[in-house]
Amino acid sequence: AAPASGTSRKPVAMAGITHIVAVASGKGGVGKSTTSVNLALGLRALGLKVGILDADIYGPSLPTLLGLRGQPRVGTDRKLLPMQSYGLKAMSIGLLVDEETAMVWRGPMVMSALTQMMAEVAWGRLDILIIDMPPGTGDAQLAIAQGTDLSGAVIVSTPQDLSLIDARRGITMFRKVDVPILGVVENMSHFICTDCGAHHAIFGEGGAEQEAGRLGVPFLGGVPLTMELRRASDLGQPVTAMAPDGVLGRIYTGLAERLL
Ligand code: ADP
Repeated sequence: AAPASGTSRKPVAMAGITHIVAVASGKGGVGKSTTSVNLALGLRALGLKVGILDADIYGPSLPTLLGLRGQPRVGTDRKLLPMQSYGLKAMSIGLLVDEETAMVWRGPMVMSALTQMMAEVAWGRLDILIIDMPPGTGDAQLAIAQGTDLSGAVIVSTPQDLSLIDARRGITMFRKVDVPILGVVENMSHFICTDCGAHHAIFGEGGAEQEAGRLGVPFLGGVPLTMELRRASDLGQPVTAMAPDGVLGRIYTGLAERLL
């Protein structure tokens, strides 16, 4: 993982985990969790050992997205066993604490829960651990960015101005604590009509790519808004698990190239 720099970082590194990558967004509902899961599955399809940690205290969605059921079990060394789904090791804050409790946590509490989910879960050897961050740039997010030995961050945004303004804040936050931006993903780039196949740029198109260019960070690619993607996520059958070389193919291969 990237060496720590800056004065205030005391990063939590993890023995056996080569890279920890945060997937973040400036605001909720832009597809951060959907992107996290599909990136993780894509990296897995490249033959890497991948874990995914859902740290989204405001709306943990990994259990739904990956079809996880039940509670994680405790292993022989008293560590929690990560759950398994489509070849990924997965753990979600939603499996361990109830949402209403976690929602009001300040940064240090989020960080300590996250530290536990890293240290007290038997992840084993991983090439990459993806952290699905809570949306936004408040003190919880800052605590994670500062307190974790991140190799880098991926920023998810829609092309809409409002989303881009918040994405910019996210990039600024990571830069402040010396976490490299691995790239920007533009989600919901355009809508593909299920009936006629026509493309509609509902939120505008190319906004995130232009913004990435302006800010001097890599652009990893765009993902269309499709019925299939939404339906697959709700069913716990993510598109990349079904077809690894689908819409996110270029994005996760680009990410792997930057990282490895
Ligand atoms: P966030 O983690 O940013 O809050 P989610 O990944 O939970 O966002 O996505 C919010 C909703 O939008 C979910 O219902 C998800 O299935 C849907 N969604 C996200 N990306 C797409 C997409 N590209 N096409 C269709 N639906 C999408």
